[in-house]
Amino acid sequence: MTAKRFFHTRLLAMLSASSILFFSGIMFLSTGNAADDYYDVVVLNGRVMDPESNLDAIRNIGIRGSKVETITGKTLKGKTIIDAKALVVAPGFIDLHVHDMNQEHHRAQARDGVTTALELEIGTADIDQWYADREGKTLINYGVSVGHVPVRMVVMKDPGSFVPNGDAARRPATENEIAEIKRQIELGLKRGALAVGLGINYTPAATHAEIIEVFRVAAKFNASCHVHMRYAGLKEPMNCVSAFEEVLAASAITGAPLHVVHITSMAFDDTSRVLEMIRGARARGMDVTTECYPYTAGMTRLDSAIFDGDWQGQLGIDYKDLQWVDTGERLTSETFARYRKIGGMVALHSMKPEVVRSAIADPLTMIASDGILKDGKGHPRAAGTYSRVLGYYVRDTRTLTLMDALRKMTLMPAQRLERRVPMMKTKGRLRPGADADLTIFDPERVIDRASYQEPGKYSEGVKFVLVNGIVVVKEGQLQEGINPGRAVRAPSQ
Ligand SMILES: [Zn+2]
Repeated sequence: MTAKRFFHTRLLAMLSASSILFFSGIMFLSTGNAADDYYDVVVLNGRVMDPESNLDAIRNIGIRGSKVETITGKTLKGKTIIDAKALVVAPGFIDLHVHDMNQEHHRAQARDGVTTALELEIGTADIDQWYADREGKTLINYGVSVGHVPVRMVVMKDPGSFVPNGDAARRPATENEIAEIKRQIELGLKRGALAVGLGINYTPAATHAEIIEVFRVAAKFNASCHVHMRYAGLKEPMNCVSAFEEVLAASAITGAPLHVVHITSMAFDDTSRVLEMIRGARARGMDVTTECYPYTAGMTRLDSAIFDGDWQGQLGIDYKDLQWVDTGERLTSETFARYRKIGGMVALHSMKPEVVRSAIADPLTMIASDGILKDGKGHPRAAGTYSRVLGYYVRDTRTLTLMDALRKMTLMPAQRLERRVPMMKTKGRLRPGADADLTIFDPERVIDRASYQEPGKYSEGVKFVLVNGIVVVKEGQLQEGINPGRAVRAPSQ
């Protein structure tokens, strides 16, 4: 026996010994009559990539129920067989930043490889109601933060939809109102909110002291604060740097972890400067993270406080850089005034391609879509974010490696939440015991197809998607009539 052959035999012996131990545990737990080596779903011959262990090798995966049970070089048998030859098998993508979740949006996201969609920036004022509305009706996993913005809207009786356009945007809260805002955020956290959302840019009348109070509540519950900062742009003194200083200080003072959302659409050309500030804070032991999306335009409501005052000077853009989502037209001073009264979504073409590229390449950023999609209207990031990173930034322009890109879509978002949300410890990884949320794609073909004209157009190249062990995308096609998505929620108190 050659040394190599000996090693091979030993390895097989070790593998089968550990398999017997492993399966005896499962048989003890299992009430079914499945044979030890027979799985509900097997994924064969795929290039399995796991950013936690850095595994990048051809393996077979055995799934029972909603869990990954084995990842092995051995042959596996199962009821459902997925041939993943020439495909990458990754943990399902986790999107920390989604808005207005609905079936249409979830379908587009599933085709883009997303298995868990979380609304953490704006969030909700009523945690129980939000989860109850989605129970058993959702294609992919879902979760939400308790949001300072919607809570402030409830407490201050703001008439706006989604973001405030009345008192919650433009009036400082009284001491009593701040006490009530804190009480409702605390209630949300007790009911299992994943985090605390803040959109200070949408509530500019909220004082610095009010923001610190909100962080203080979050800290009590180990909850990260997912913040759309107070200012965007470069113009001193109220710019992205001072806005970051505000929330960094709130984090340092209270101990609440800080997550800065869509860094590129806040910092524009100063993105690398703010990323360096985050790096510095982390080097001094602070828990600060950030995210970005792979597009050069942002999107928000035209009737929001973001367009109060000298927005052109602040953001460094003009009417022509605004695109009215309903019609696709670029705005003029006249249409700006008219549409602002009506209210609705507008795209802001405000970021340089090289800024977006370097943010995506930076090891600090997670990928998060900030997507919104309803009745075919929205931003292409809702349907295309993840395939765009994998196709355009990884394959076509070699901006970052495939493993680094997957880390930003899976492990990093899971780790952001897992201290408060134990359920996240079994997401974002591919190992025995992990949730069977899997995204299987063709690395040579994957690409986004959504555009500003057709924002709901599905991505291509995502071949199979599993949510809790159930196949929701098969051979590139959505499966109908199934809703295997489960609530992602922190333990309630
Ligand atoms: Zn935002």
